[in-house]
Amino acid sequence: MSPIRIVFFTGAGISAESGLRTFRDSDGLWEEYRIEDVATPEAWARNAELVLRFYDLRREQVLKASPNAAHEAIAALEDSFHVQVVTQNIDDLHERAGSSRVLHLHGEILKARSTADPSLVFPVNGPHLRTGDKCPKGSQLRPHIVWFGEEVPLLMPAAALVAQADVLVVVGSSLQVYPAAGLVHSAPAQATIHLVDPNTVSAQGVRFTHWKEKASLGVPKLAQFLRKTYT
Ligand code: NAD
Repeated sequence: MSPIRIVFFTGAGISAESGLRTFRDSDGLWEEYRIEDVATPEAWARNAELVLRFYDLRREQVLKASPNAAHEAIAALEDSFHVQVVTQNIDDLHERAGSSRVLHLHGEILKARSTADPSLVFPVNGPHLRTGDKCPKGSQLRPHIVWFGEEVPLLMPAAALVAQADVLVVVGSSLQVYPAAGLVHSAPAQATIHLVDPNTVSAQGVRFTHWKEKASLGVPKLAQFLRKTYT
């Protein structure tokens, strides 16, 4: 086992080829919805039914989707390296590909949590979460998602993981969604940084090698490069 620690920081782009659309690519709309209408605390207060319907649709899609070659290549690297995934994604495709260390910065679509006590988190059985679905304390359940405008509770633990990286690999993230995007600045000065994304991505003050390819091609190639270089 190589002593090299690899941290993968993944965004919506890694799941695009599994059929889950990113929203930066579609004019700021997320599957035809405006973010302000479905993914903010204000939206929840205004129209919880609409928010639940939106996440039900996302959950249905995730349940139908499968991991692609990029998720699989990351999981396979665990045979030779200490691999940590920090993902902005709310899907479970890293876990289903076999990754054993996955931190979800923005929550998990297949879980719900109590609106009275955020420590009460439950699996959602099936695709639907309804108004009237309550926690044992009698409060409405909400999607276990970090909405825009909310604090990111796992930001500090994620930064601590990135700070231990010998190699940091960013996959499929526009690096526009803060504070998550700022995590690249937590990498140690001597860490090598790679980016896999078919489009131009700018991260001020960060020097990286850009693998300008879709994740399903670029990540397996990069994985091969890491094996050759470090084992
Ligand atoms: P983003 O939508 O801002 O950016 C997506 C990035 O992926 C872009 O840079 C784009 O060039 C790149 N991309 C597109 N196709 C790709 C491919 N085939 N391979 C590799 N890269 C590709 O995504 P983000 O930076 O992750 O931020 C969006 C936020 O929206 C996230 O924080 C996440 O919570 C949420 N989101 C999640 C999912 C999901 O869970 N699958 C899907 C959409 C949005």
